[in-house]
Amino acid sequence: MSYFADLILPLPLEKRFTYSLTAEEANFIQPGMRLAVPFGKNRIYTGIVADIHQNPPEVYEAKPIHQILDEKALLTPEQLSFWKWIASYYLCSEGDVMRAALPGAFLLESESIVKLSKDARPDASELNDDEYLVIEALQRQSSMKIQEVEQLLDKKKVLPVINKLVMKDLVDLNQEIYEQFKPKEVRYVKLNPAYEAETEMHQLLDDLSRAPKQREVLLSYFSITAKSKKALKTKKLLQESGASAGVLKSLIDKGIFEEFYEVTDRINFKGEISNHEINLNKIQQQAFEEIQQNFQEDKVCLLHGVTSSGKTEIYIKLIEEALNKGKQALYLLPEIALTTQLIKRLQNYFGEKVLVYHSKYSLNERVEIYRHVLENSEKGKIVIGARSCIFLPFQDLGLVVVDEEHESTFKQFDPAPRYHARDSAVVLANLFKANIILGSATPSIESYFNAEHNKYALVELSRRYGNVMMPEVEVVDIKTAHRKKKMTGHFSERLLEEIKESLKEEEQVILFQNRRGFSPIMECNTCGHSPQCPNCDVSLTFHSHNNQLRCHYCGYHIAMQQQCMACGSSEITTKGFGTEQVETELKALFPKHNIGRMDQDTTRGKYAYEKIIEAFEAQETDILIGTQMLTKGLDFRKVSLVGIMNADNLLNFPDFRAHERSFQLMLQVAGRSGRTKKRGKVLIQTYNPYHQIIQQVSTGSYIEMYKEQLEDRYQYQYPPYFRLIRLTLKCRDYSMTNEAADWLARALENVFDRYILGPEFPPVARIRNEYYKNILIKIPQKQSLGKTKKVVHRILTSFRAIGAYRSVRVVVNVDPQ
Ligand code: ADP
Ligand code: ZN
Ligand code: ZN
Repeated sequence: MSYFADLILPLPLEKRFTYSLTAEEANFIQPGMRLAVPFGKNRIYTGIVADIHQNPPEVYEAKPIHQILDEKALLTPEQLSFWKWIASYYLCSEGDVMRAALPGAFLLESESIVKLSKDARPDASELNDDEYLVIEALQRQSSMKIQEVEQLLDKKKVLPVINKLVMKDLVDLNQEIYEQFKPKEVRYVKLNPAYEAETEMHQLLDDLSRAPKQREVLLSYFSITAKSKKALKTKKLLQESGASAGVLKSLIDKGIFEEFYEVTDRINFKGEISNHEINLNKIQQQAFEEIQQNFQEDKVCLLHGVTSSGKTEIYIKLIEEALNKGKQALYLLPEIALTTQLIKRLQNYFGEKVLVYHSKYSLNERVEIYRHVLENSEKGKIVIGARSCIFLPFQDLGLVVVDEEHESTFKQFDPAPRYHARDSAVVLANLFKANIILGSATPSIESYFNAEHNKYALVELSRRYGNVMMPEVEVVDIKTAHRKKKMTGHFSERLLEEIKESLKEEEQVILFQNRRGFSPIMECNTCGHSPQCPNCDVSLTFHSHNNQLRCHYCGYHIAMQQQCMACGSSEITTKGFGTEQVETELKALFPKHNIGRMDQDTTRGKYAYEKIIEAFEAQETDILIGTQMLTKGLDFRKVSLVGIMNADNLLNFPDFRAHERSFQLMLQVAGRSGRTKKRGKVLIQTYNPYHQIIQQVSTGSYIEMYKEQLEDRYQYQYPPYFRLIRLTLKCRDYSMTNEAADWLARALENVFDRYILGPEFPPVARIRNEYYKNILIKIPQKQSLGKTKKVVHRILTSFRAIGAYRSVRVVVNVDPQ
């Protein structure tokens, strides 16, 4: 009798790969375990057992496995089904899903892995181009392989770059093939019991009189342990005595001190549970009961509640219910909304049952969380985190909360799997027969449409908690203001008046500008030239703090130019403006006030984001300027004014969702104002005061916006009426890109006819020297999604078989955002 195992390998393979097992192995191995297996030339990979059977593969001889890595399954049967669904729905391989789903430390292989070191606080100004790119990439993904670094930097010899970063203590390099997970150990020291008696102690001090540094350490030890009898942490002793590790080591080597280790858990919650009760008010209670009613009918619930209506309190109640039934709960929210504020609220209530899963966490922390969830331990009962949390090994999931469900960052953009965490969470909940609630003050048009068509249940909360009024919105026409010379820099007279008023009342102000940097584009007044990135088809952005022109796509930068690079004229002006410029102008206008800025540039370090928020919360900052990072779920008590510096660049974005997005963004940022007694104020500066979206924001009419957008979507054949699949071709050769795109579009048109759009260059058609070209497939509601995907898959397979197009990559994005 022969036995075989089908494995999922962390590679973009069409199929699972089959290996042969001995009877003994087959007896031991279970689906969900990891095996180390040979693949290709001398490579060893970690594979996940998906199936065990007795049918040999037809076209190749199954190789024996290398090693069994787990004693118990690392994946649950639900996870295996979930991976399969993601791969088939989002048109990628299970291997792609595996890479996204498992903490990097579980994927052991004979290739080096680079990761951001745990306490890295990179300073962009001290990095060269290559180093900057690597760090930036590592802030987005937990680790990269050397190969990926080569791709990123587009060169073969990347080790010197990595080496520099290792020297700067910014990244760790890991070449081991075995388990990378190490439980955190804390080192302790204690005096050798032989010296405990008084005479021996004095003798020892005398003996050490010629080693004053060692003597010092010993004296520190006595003075600390005299105060508390507890074991002394090595770290503490070194700190207090100011001695080097070398001095301590000599003492240990001489047998004067003994050192021992204890394993601790990294993710201990150290605060106290405040045990306050939540008393929902009447409106909230009613919503809560409606939700429960719908849960009983197994319906997905959409909670549409205005900002500050107490959605979070309702989620907490629902989580409590799930926990009371012994179930696990998952709280999903967009990465940028992962604030300490919300986490604290949950931890205050549930204590250490709450685990936070964050992309900025180290490999080891992720492994620890994975294990807690897998073991269904008390600690893993509630998981809160961004999209990748849906891949955790839940045992008994009872509830999923998707907070800010309209957020586009729930969709993974790159690399595959390009999944939408909200939509996938609905499938995940279904696998467990768990309840799921999607909540937002500004639901996505898709979700609201589903509710309108009874696919989801709709529950509404239309009042703010404590009868706080919705903020008053005022639209400021800056076209007129400019004409009447009533602008100071980018501030209208009205906005300045209101800022002064708020500051006088000792209240806080939030200013929103959806662009980072100083001013996006420098333009020559004489010839119209603006400096471009040599690698991408975009203009460079001016950053004043380091006086650089920088590309936001590839990181390329040069020093700011004093003269036009084309004609030499020194008359250079700026077009558009970013957060940095707003900050500079404000500092000049309000020199006595503290001003904070929150954008991608100021929030790179692990706790940078938290620090800015905490300073604002503690009212150390009076005015906070930021990009959309500050629109999300923040609950500040003293903000009475929100200013939107320029609504137009949001509205003019070339995308069918631009209007929906602008509405959501503006209403969300407006929602940060006046969350306590006093009515808040919102000022929107715009060149188009009569734009329908601006009007809808100022009256807070979600339904009006929804209806109007829906009409457009219907007319122009977009979601929710049509589903979309976007194919993006990427290639370094311009004419090859065109040729391949034409071939692919024609093949698709043969089947789908007029439902194919493009090929078309996107607004930024070249990034890092690669040309991009898009083809859009529109799928009418009555057309089978499954069959469509099969056809697309078949055409892509033929395409990839064409030798001439080998240098062209095709990225498939199902439900692009
Ligand atoms: P949302 O999530 O809808 O924006 P929150 O849940 O953050 O709203 O609630 C807004 C504020 O009102 C929070 O400070 C919250 O603590 C408070 N709040 C809401 N509901 C209650 C309640 N039932 N009891 C006490 N405080 C509440
Ligand atoms: Zn010029
Ligand atoms: Zn560039």
